[in-house]
Amino acid sequence: NWDLILYVNLELVNKMSNRRFIVKDMLGQGTFGQVVKCWDTETNDYVAVKVIKNQPAFYHQAIMEVSLLRTLNQKFDPDDKHNIVRMLDYLSFQNHLCIAFEMLGQNLYELLKRNQLRGLKVKYVRAFSKQILDAMVVMRDAGIIHCDLKPENILLAPSVATAAAVKVIDFGSACLEGKTVYSYIQSRYYRYTTAIDMWSFGCIVAELFIGLPLFPGASEYDVLQRMMTILGGQPPDDLLREAKDTGRFFKHVGSIFPGSEAPDGIPSAYRFLSEEEIETRESKRPKVGKWYFPRLKLDRLIYNYPWNNSELTETEETDRLALVDFLKGLLEFDPNKRWSPVQA
Ligand code: ATP
Ligand code: MG
Ligand code: MG
Repeated sequence: NWDLILYVNLELVNKMSNRRFIVKDMLGQGTFGQVVKCWDTETNDYVAVKVIKNQPAFYHQAIMEVSLLRTLNQKFDPDDKHNIVRMLDYLSFQNHLCIAFEMLGQNLYELLKRNQLRGLKVKYVRAFSKQILDAMVVMRDAGIIHCDLKPENILLAPSVATAAAVKVIDFGSACLEGKTVYSYIQSRYYRYTTAIDMWSFGCIVAELFIGLPLFPGASEYDVLQRMMTILGGQPPDDLLREAKDTGRFFKHVGSIFPGSEAPDGIPSAYRFLSEEEIETRESKRPKVGKWYFPRLKLDRLIYNYPWNNSELTETEETDRLALVDFLKGLLEFDPNKRWSPVQA
């Protein structure tokens, strides 16, 4: 109920604190503003403050970020056990909404870069995946879709004992499930669910292992083509029938099973267009930069990584087979068949 949300958000604005922070250093930059390291003179501790751009649209979106995070922190994770960043305070400074967070470490993209983009050991991929999933189960329970899960939005947290720990940050693009603005006028496939986060999560897990984005396309066409090569097939017909951009990438060639999903082995009603056929506003010859990234099916991609025919130990072999199986459950085109966080 949007009225209720706005009401609650207004109340949030009224509850704004007037705490002062001393800016010490720059931590990061994003679409919504800058994140700075600050000294909090009240608690005598460092905090990370996200200073939102001083335009109304950003301001309102950030109020939503505060609102969703407050719900997640207080109602769904009161004891800070589920790997979600803690919001400490928020205030308005010269029309910049400022949100104070606990200080965390590097983000996972920085971690991958530090490792020359060669990927992490399976034990870290597994540990981080578990922790991200833990956060996603909580988000699912709260009906909150993150909408922007990516390595830059997963941060290393102070380690628990000796184990590495991560936390999910940046709820600046998040929304409530089933309450997206257009949901009631659109067909079921545009009703975003937390399944979109699971797809992103699948991409993150693969990237943590390989060190490079799984679908590094330079154009939407290229990304789609890579998805189909890696996942071994195109999205199911009933998904293509409802998707709003199908016509940009597929030609409808007719089905002998109109109105229903074609059974296995029956040709699809849609043919993927060739690069010459697409009507394009994007660059036709996608460049993937200096990345060497073979167009292989997912199992080969993971199993043979780093693609130099080296021998695998028995543990490595088991780990990789399990990873492929795991990724297949996440990178499922049909959101209704895709694993839920609990299943994963
Ligand atoms: P995006 O472009 O992803 O939407 P954004 O503007 O919403 O970014 P955030 O993702 O919240 O901003 O923060 C930007 C960057 O600042 C992060 O990727 C991270 O490197 C750093 N950062 C954010 N929060 C913290 C924190 N609590 N502790 C340390 N660094 C942080
Ligand atoms: Mg971010
Ligand atoms: Mg953001």
